[in-house]
Amino acid sequence: MQHKEVIVYGAGMSGLIAAYNLKQEGHDVLVREREASFGGSRIYNPSTHTTPLDVEATSQYIGIDISPAFHPVESISLYLHDLLIPLPAAGAYTVERSSRPSSLDALLYEKCLEAGVEFEFERELTREELASLPPGTIIACGLNPEAYKLLNMPYGTWYGWMARGDADRSGYSWIWLDECITEYGYISYCNDIYYDLLFSYGQEVDRDCLERYRGFRSRVEGVDYGEWEYVSGAVPVVEPDSPRLMRNGLIMCGTISGAIDPFMGFGISGALVTGKVAAMAVEDPGGASEEFQRFTRNFNAVFHFKQEVWSGLRARVDLLEELARILGPKRSLRLIAEGIRKGRKSSAIPGFSPVSCS
Ligand SMILES: Cc1cc2nc3c(=O)[nH]c(=O)nc-3n(C[C@H](O)[C@H](O)[C@H](O)COP(=O)(O)OP(=O)(O)OC[C@H]3O[C@@H](n4cnc5c(N)ncnc54)[C@H](O)[C@@H]3O)c2cc1C
Repeated sequence: MQHKEVIVYGAGMSGLIAAYNLKQEGHDVLVREREASFGGSRIYNPSTHTTPLDVEATSQYIGIDISPAFHPVESISLYLHDLLIPLPAAGAYTVERSSRPSSLDALLYEKCLEAGVEFEFERELTREELASLPPGTIIACGLNPEAYKLLNMPYGTWYGWMARGDADRSGYSWIWLDECITEYGYISYCNDIYYDLLFSYGQEVDRDCLERYRGFRSRVEGVDYGEWEYVSGAVPVVEPDSPRLMRNGLIMCGTISGAIDPFMGFGISGALVTGKVAAMAVEDPGGASEEFQRFTRNFNAVFHFKQEVWSGLRARVDLLEELARILGPKRSLRLIAEGIRKGRKSSAIPGFSPVSCS
């Protein structure tokens, strides 16, 4: 094998995994990151995320033991307005994204340093530079609108309110559904910090909606902390051209490749596995594209199910709530578990997530 010099743009989770794997194969690897340090975007991080994941299978696939950074969720609640339905927590994890030693980013960065990957921080991919990038350059710029524009790629926009800070609990998450948003509000506790996000795709979230969410939090969960900030960002769209690994000779890596669960928006598992796939693409673009398609082959069907079936139901949380009251918590839970089981066969990352087809 001829060793190459590979440049990776973005020192987030997928870029670091790609860089590590390439270095292990003997390539010279330089990671360029626009922030002053690793730890992802300073707009959102520090943050804590919740994700379904098969930690062991994913660690084996990417060649890095990520288990120290993923913490099993002990309990997770789904709320339809104020109505609680406890969800099965098995297979759900919280993970910290930041530059603190307890984060996933710190674990991956250390692995890269040990392997000999080189880094340039405060080094952003620019439009001028784009035309001259050698084929096989890896783009791992995450959910960043400027990067999508730069690469002339389709994307949608999400809007929302976020709050974060110190917390005295761990291993707990909730998901909150209400008509004032198209997606959900969620909180994630991990490593003594919390991250709370209330968000919609393609629709601004007004202050009244935030006040409803805050009312729910303090009334039902007894939580009233947090300075709220209004944020927005990019989200990949599913269309014939996306998800996609290769674009004009460049290798798309992580969420910018479109590898984000099209139902719930879980991006962690897709970012992890496509870091490895992007590294494979440097030597074997054809084989890596097939592997990428294996992971994303059901995205289109799931995306359309969400658009055409779920969004109609989702707009009537009052009816879902009434149905759940009639069924009672146990039968509602059984219905949800069956939905997840079916979803497993039809969506997301094969073998790596409870909402996937293994
Ligand atoms: C607010 C928020 C909450 C989320 N919550 C969850 C959740 O609970 N569960 C879940 O599964 N997923 C969640 N996701 C999705 C998940 O975080 C992403 O899919 C995942 O982080 C993407 O990983 P990545 O490696 O593609 O990019 P990232 O880890 O975001 O890394 C991208 C890196 O590229 C850098 N960069 C950007 N532009 C440039 C440039 N032009 N030049 C150089 N560097 C650049 C950035 O600074 C960053 O360090 C959330 C996303 C957001 C934004």
